[in-house]
Amino acid sequence: MARIAVGGFQHETNTFAPQRATWADFERADAWPGFVRGAELIDAVEGFNIPIAGAVKTLQELRHELVPLCWCSAPPSSYVEREAYEKVAAALLDDLTAGAPLDGVYLDLHGAMVAEHHEDGEGELLRRIRALVGDKMPIVTSLDYHTNLTPEMVQHASAMIGYRTYPHIDMADTGSRAAQLLDRLLKDRRPLYKAYRQIDFLIPLVWQCTLAEPAKGIFALIEEIEQSSRRGGSQGGSPGGSHNQGIVSITHTPGFPPADIAQCGPALVVYGLDRDAAEAAADRIAAAIRDREAGFAGKLYTPDEAVIEALRIAERATKPVLLADIQDNPGAGGTSDTVGLLRALIVHRATGAVIGMIVDPEAAEAATAAGEGARLEGGIGAKVGYAGETPVEADWRIVRLGTGRFTGTGPMYGGAKFQIGPMALLTDEASGVSAVLAAKRIQAVDQEMFRHVGVEPAEVPILGLKSTVHFRAHFQPIAETILCVQSPGAHVSDPTELPYRHLRPGIRLRPMGLARE
Ligand SMILES: [Zn+2]
Repeated sequence: MARIAVGGFQHETNTFAPQRATWADFERADAWPGFVRGAELIDAVEGFNIPIAGAVKTLQELRHELVPLCWCSAPPSSYVEREAYEKVAAALLDDLTAGAPLDGVYLDLHGAMVAEHHEDGEGELLRRIRALVGDKMPIVTSLDYHTNLTPEMVQHASAMIGYRTYPHIDMADTGSRAAQLLDRLLKDRRPLYKAYRQIDFLIPLVWQCTLAEPAKGIFALIEEIEQSSRRGGSQGGSPGGSHNQGIVSITHTPGFPPADIAQCGPALVVYGLDRDAAEAAADRIAAAIRDREAGFAGKLYTPDEAVIEALRIAERATKPVLLADIQDNPGAGGTSDTVGLLRALIVHRATGAVIGMIVDPEAAEAATAAGEGARLEGGIGAKVGYAGETPVEADWRIVRLGTGRFTGTGPMYGGAKFQIGPMALLTDEASGVSAVLAAKRIQAVDQEMFRHVGVEPAEVPILGLKSTVHFRAHFQPIAETILCVQSPGAHVSDPTELPYRHLRPGIRLRPMGLARE
């Protein structure tokens, strides 16, 4: 049994976003707990699909004594304010001092935090903690998939374990893996060799999904290398596995592109007991990523192109063609009310097509007041006016109304009790195109959002979804194919449209793009 400190400090910083993360943002609970400190932490995080919950559970099962520090997170936004960063960092360091003597430290970090005064938020935090606890103590962290993994982070942490899924369905699981590795380090008392590589092109979020190539194949390779090392270790060297012997753990993080910092971008670190094996594995994975570069530069369709292609495919398809409206994703700051794709569906008369959610509280309430079967006067969508569009006027008939109260059934929101206000299914009688209206911003990631207003997603020929990647967890299994559409939206998917100033020299803003001066 060892005495292990557990804590966390999570933020994903989009340095181009309008609002900064304040202390109040970290203090407040949202979908996750608010700022918790000391003994209350253990109960507060229990049952959440977050890394620290998995780590706590596993460390308890391994019968270690836990010393809870603090844990907090704030929603993705721009820079973390200096005051907030220092307050949380001080709490972590004070509690580590008070908790001594300790045998190890586990931290739940996102890995893409940029503070006003430190562009490598986690690297600076780990530097301070390492200085406090000394060189010998194991410090193990979990990391989000969207980590910008910096040299300082790798230097100061004994080991870091990243998610392997996007959509993220392995968050608690990753915390558990980090806890197991910490346990191993405490037992083995052998430091791990670290082989670190950075990749010199940014990968847009839309092409980072692990349900599709190339990311899927890269993570399969990582699993294969780890497993062959394990087999080699237990059987004294199986054929094929021997050169991977001594590999303990591999973390590859494809990065969080909208961060204007020097170390932005994809990276990986291989931890091993054997220097040559770790370096060779790092080279092999880095080469696999570079070899697949073209695959990360997938096609984005204009709304017109997408609808024409979807109609062509749908003629012979038995399953829906999905059109992902990737830039108007409310989970990444989109208004979920832009109408570029809706208009294209109507213009090209995509009869039977459905798009959701068009967030328009006025229209949803007007539809509810008018009743099923009635006509809806006026247009829908484009109410926030982000893209300078105008609402879509058509021959809208109110087909079905919903209260917005339903229970999710997908991998991300299974069991979640939605309460998102009035919803409505409208159909344009002239084109046969339908839209699902909602009153509150919600990402189209669960099929129940459609079933709630009488649409069975699997039976629709063309389905438009306002989501970048997370929709894939529930919708990809029913899809004939998925086309990614670049219609207006606040989640800008092409890094070349962002005004970077601090990236390191030589990094390319997108796969197959040109290097910066
Ligand atoms: Zn993430």
